[in-house]
Amino acid sequence: MSKFTKVDKEECIACGSCGSAAPEIFEYDNDGLAEVVFEGDNNKGVTAIPAAMEEELQDAVESCPTECIKVQETPFN
Ligand code: SF4
Repeated sequence: MSKFTKVDKEECIACGSCGSAAPEIFEYDNDGLAEVVFEGDNNKGVTAIPAAMEEELQDAVESCPTECIKVQETPFN
């Protein structure tokens, strides 16, 4: 099953871990805060992350020191 993800930027401390773990999913804005960029998601959490990328998504989640990467099985909104 696909997963959906987004970053709670209020809690992000711009540590850079998630983009290292999952560079296809996470990049950083001008303040260094992470956001979901996969297929142009724009951190809305509405783009399905394919099962083949779930492991790197999980690595990113586990690497996040503030647990601000949210994941669920349905689109956010
Ligand atoms: S790992 Fe977490 S705290 Fe670090 S940049 Fe990514 S979302 Fe922000």
